[in-house]
Amino acid sequence: MENITNILLVSGTHGNELSGLYLQKLIKDGRYDANRSTFSTSLLTGNPEAVQQQCRFLDMDLNRQFSTSRQEATSKEAKRSQALITQYADNEKQLIIDLHNTTSNMGATLILLSESPFYTKMGAYVKQRMPDANILFETRTSWPEQPYLCTMGQYGVMIEVGAQAHGSLKSETLDLMKRMTTAVLDYIEKSNLGQLDQLNAYEAYFYLEEVVVPLDQDGQRLALVHPTVCGQDFQPVYPGEPLLATFMGSDIHWQGEHEIYPHFINEAAYCASNIAMALAEKKHIEV
Ligand SMILES: [Zn+2]
Repeated sequence: MENITNILLVSGTHGNELSGLYLQKLIKDGRYDANRSTFSTSLLTGNPEAVQQQCRFLDMDLNRQFSTSRQEATSKEAKRSQALITQYADNEKQLIIDLHNTTSNMGATLILLSESPFYTKMGAYVKQRMPDANILFETRTSWPEQPYLCTMGQYGVMIEVGAQAHGSLKSETLDLMKRMTTAVLDYIEKSNLGQLDQLNAYEAYFYLEEVVVPLDQDGQRLALVHPTVCGQDFQPVYPGEPLLATFMGSDIHWQGEHEIYPHFINEAAYCASNIAMALAEKKHIEV
């Protein structure tokens, strides 16, 4: 691949996720350097109207509007996605880094949407620099069908950091975001210079499915995240172990053949869709 000459660092794709917005402020104030010798970094606010109104989105989730097969643009966010695509998508030497917060206890998680060597090596480099980081692949969909903002161009990743309540700001979380962003920027610099040292094999997570809470006839939940799982993002749940606890006293167990790794556990933004968590499997990645 050709060298990356521009990084588009995006925050406020979800208007109430503050770490990225404040990392942008640190960059503007000269307190964090996002440039390197081989590329420059430009800053973008994904959904300025949502940032202003301090909410996740106005009509629809902007970070689901970028699949090439999406419907006609009528919502505010669909129109915003069209404008962003027109302005930013057509740059083959650009990497988009989209910064997010989660209310789930996921620490610093690098979300990669392709298993090409560029990304598997990025995961290896970030994991080497930051052993406590989680590397999460979401690769069941082809690149053009990915709905995420960071996939509107040729290259993109998401940095997801938590646990932090939406609308709040924690120094620990901002620090994790800085460390992971620094590692990704350094990877691009070293990759551009042909100076990547030996990269080690590592363990990464691969998204499989979501767990939706069962509802009663009034649309109210019949269960909640099991206390043994709550807050335990990326900890294994073995076959036969509980995922959800019902209000009737029984548990709903993981029925698969292998252990599973819940994440986005109790994510507040998934409230409306009653998603209790996402599930991933763990794989060994050779680079
Ligand atoms: Zn987000």
